[in-house]
Amino acid sequence: MSAPACYLCRGQEHETLGAEVFQAPGSKVYKCRGCELVFLHPIMTPGEEKAFYQADWDKYMAGRSGPGWKSPESHFVSYQPEGERRLALVRPYLKADDSALEIGSATGYFLDDLRGYVREVTGVEPNPLQREHAVSRGLKTVSDVAELGERTFDVIFGYYVFEHFRDPVQTAKDLKKRLKPGGRLVLEVPNVDDVLLGPYRIPAFAPFYWQKAHYFNYSQKTFAAVLERAGLTCEVLPVQRYDLSNHMVWMMEQKPGGAGRFKELFTPALEAAYADALKARWRCDTVMAVARAA
Ligand SMILES: [Zn+2]
Repeated sequence: MSAPACYLCRGQEHETLGAEVFQAPGSKVYKCRGCELVFLHPIMTPGEEKAFYQADWDKYMAGRSGPGWKSPESHFVSYQPEGERRLALVRPYLKADDSALEIGSATGYFLDDLRGYVREVTGVEPNPLQREHAVSRGLKTVSDVAELGERTFDVIFGYYVFEHFRDPVQTAKDLKKRLKPGGRLVLEVPNVDDVLLGPYRIPAFAPFYWQKAHYFNYSQKTFAAVLERAGLTCEVLPVQRYDLSNHMVWMMEQKPGGAGRFKELFTPALEAAYADALKARWRCDTVMAVARAA
């Protein structure tokens, strides 16, 4: 199946970046020659998408990397370092009187860290087990943004959600409406210019990286373009989440999950220098954006 016009620029000229996509036989990944947007085609229909997130999501994630899914409690505990990583990066953007919202708040591990620094926190999480766990920890969490009525917030967080949205410009517009005057949208997405996908050319990485649930694969440039199209001004920042051990294990064994393996050998200074080198060239794994209404 040939690819449709580019979502962002309507361009018809694309190159094929990937023909093998995790859990999506028949779909390919294309890069627009006009605006450089990287997108999956074909994607799930709205009905398939709904069923996928309701019924298949936990199994899908268990087949990938990261801490496995055992129970909401083990998820909450194993994601503590991730909550702390986020908090360290967003502290400069927080005010003590802020009301904060997180889209896709899972078991609430980040909101739990965040609530010590802002006035109040609210989460949106469709998965009932995860949501109930967050509520049991005293974290207000709803299943859908619609349940929030007309409520607005000072800061809205979205970690690894924008790459899943079929109409990201519209979603960004909807979130913009939920910002109070002076409000900020703080987002992270995977960076398609990741060194593992580009310069290192690890054979097993691309078929792992391209995946059914990621409709768009953003760069610094294309993520900013999406947010600007929605009437936001944004600051984009390079972030490196995975360490040197993770990269070496990809090279040695062609698989994920190597984070921390050589931590006895690699000093914090070495890790920091490696991450800085990747970030300086935008070969890091994550794009962070802080966006405000234009
Ligand atoms: Zn384009």
